Amino acid sequence: MNNSTEVISVDHDLKMIKPPHAKWPEPANVYFIKDEDGISLFDVGCSCDSSVGRVLGALNYLGWDKLPVKKIVLSHAHPDHIGGMKTLSSYLNPEQTILHEHDLPYANSPSDLNFSFDIPLCNEKNREKGNPDGNGFDILSYFEMVNCPMCSVKINKTVKEKDIINIGRYNFEVIHTPGHASGHISLFDTNKKLLLAGDIIGEIIPWYAPSSGGLTGFLESLQKIEALDIDIVLPSHGSIIKNSKKIIHEIITTFNKRDDSIIEALKSGQKTFHELNEILFEFPLLQFFPGTPMTESHLQKLIKDKKIKVLNKLYFLI
Ligand SMILES: [Zn+2]
Ligand SMILES: [Zn+2]
Repeated sequence: MNNSTEVISVDHDLKMIKPPHAKWPEPANVYFIKDEDGISLFDVGCSCDSSVGRVLGALNYLGWDKLPVKKIVLSHAHPDHIGGMKTLSSYLNPEQTILHEHDLPYANSPSDLNFSFDIPLCNEKNREKGNPDGNGFDILSYFEMVNCPMCSVKINKTVKEKDIINIGRYNFEVIHTPGHASGHISLFDTNKKLLLAGDIIGEIIPWYAPSSGGLTGFLESLQKIEALDIDIVLPSHGSIIKNSKKIIHEIITTFNKRDDSIIEALKSGQKTFHELNEILFEFPLLQFFPGTPMTESHLQKLIKDKKIKVLNKLYFLI
């Protein structure tokens, strides 16, 4: 084991394997769950050497490295959560690899992630600004560049809302939580009041995109989580959360502030998409991604809520 402090014991049979910090492109937390005759994992991290080494080192440290791997449940098909399968699948050789049905296309064909990240929209908006190179961006090349490459993953079981995944003494209900990824899932054990949250709640607020459920989908996902009787949240990025209601409130407050910035800007007159995007995102690189899909998500929600309208690519208050 590189460092025993990377293995956090949630319970005797449930361990959190945590990277040094929560910020992208640092890989997601990985969870091990042990039962009488094997172990299962929730996410596997990315394929960079440090992440793969941490997962294998933790199995070795716990003495669980010789146990058969029964289930690998993937919260969603993003490289910081599933990219590690590229290397780890041959070591772990799981009986079942499980993903929500909506994210199956991205596990099969990773280049399709360009669509769920709304990269065509980013390119289109970039071209509107007169940048001829806007079409050159490819999300898979970007993942490679930040040392968190995506890979295709062979899924042999898909799940959907309310399905039950039994692992040892845990009976997890699948909570479909889109917004950040269309097939994003969280797992909830009612008896233990325990939520494996994925990216929907954690130390960082993830980006959102219309093609991944948008802001409206994200808010509905948070409402579902808020309605659960939760004692402990195990997030994919950051430390264990005890007060989930407070975290959810903080996330919604952040979303409302972004809505308010758009409304406030429109009080002084009509604005273009780019003017509004620049209000929410100061840096040009962020204006491209995740700015474009996040700003578009807010505009779509405000139009749906009948607070603003758009005419000839200009946004107005109603
Ligand atoms: Zn993600
Ligand atoms: Zn993530």
